[in-house]
Amino acid sequence: MQSAADVTQLIGNTPLLHLRQVSERTGCTILGKAEFLNPGGSVKDRTALGIIRAAEAAGELKPGGRIVEGTAGNTGIGLTLLANALGYKSTVVMPMTQSKEKIDTLELLGADLHLVPAASYADPGHYIHTAERLAQDYAAKEANGVIWARQFDNLANMHIHRDTTGEEIWRQTDGKVDGFICAVGTGGTLAGVSQALKAHNPKVRIGLADPCGASLTSYFSGGELAPSEGSSIVEGIGINHVTGNIAEAQVDHAWTLSDRESLPYLYDLLQHEGLCLGGSSAINIAGAVKLAEELGPGHTIVTILCDYGNRYQSKLFNPVFLQNKDLPIPAWLDI
Ligand code: PMP
Repeated sequence: MQSAADVTQLIGNTPLLHLRQVSERTGCTILGKAEFLNPGGSVKDRTALGIIRAAEAAGELKPGGRIVEGTAGNTGIGLTLLANALGYKSTVVMPMTQSKEKIDTLELLGADLHLVPAASYADPGHYIHTAERLAQDYAAKEANGVIWARQFDNLANMHIHRDTTGEEIWRQTDGKVDGFICAVGTGGTLAGVSQALKAHNPKVRIGLADPCGASLTSYFSGGELAPSEGSSIVEGIGINHVTGNIAEAQVDHAWTLSDRESLPYLYDLLQHEGLCLGGSSAINIAGAVKLAEELGPGHTIVTILCDYGNRYQSKLFNPVFLQNKDLPIPAWLDI
């Protein structure tokens, strides 16, 4: 009989999916790592597991202990389902601007959920600083121990991506991968995968796909941390400070991709390849096209399909929302 012993064993070992239209368009083989197949529905299940296992190994997390985290939602979902499976409690702090579907999912899973107003990182009310404060408050009154997961600076995040996501990509492509690109929320995925692939073959080219309003294209192109023009409706990515994890990334190219040019990839995928993905996957695929154009036809490029589209149905697939943001509305949703 073949079975997984528990939900942790369902995390990772995701397949690579050939993305037909963008491959045809660029003459490259563009592959997406199907991270939406993780049990919590996103790439961030890996981070949640990596952080929990590192805290257990360090003796910081004991049975009945609490994990506190600030998140755009997906890490909170991963941490909460793992907390439920492994005998911990979870507290999730999230900006209230995130999608209703992610808030509903966290409530469904039984997270101790704290929604805070969107604020700049410099503001003490920012969700990351709020999580740190809440972790201190809980630590003062709970006996079983409390950890603040610190996914932005905790290198257990990039380590799990280096040891799993990156190694899987190398194995699944038989070492024939020429380029990898993805967007950055914490930088864990990009840093971990870049380190694994460059360790196997330093010639693998690593790209960073930044949404409008984020500062990393500027940082990796010229060293200055300046936000690009405009803004993005895409959740979970786009940062304006250098996290501990992104500081570990080995980046060769960086591009800023607008929602206007990226979202049509999502709609084309849904209509013609049967896959409904979230917005960060659109930025990633648009980035993969840029990297393909940079490297030229005949190369193999991998990116991340971070989460499923139903997590953003009220935004990315809502014609009224798209119209209010002056974004293209896919034909079958048009009002
Ligand atoms: N896509 C989505 C939907 C996410 O939630 C996140 C993480 N916030 C990312 C991409 C970025 O991943 P990372 O934190 O590894 O940079």
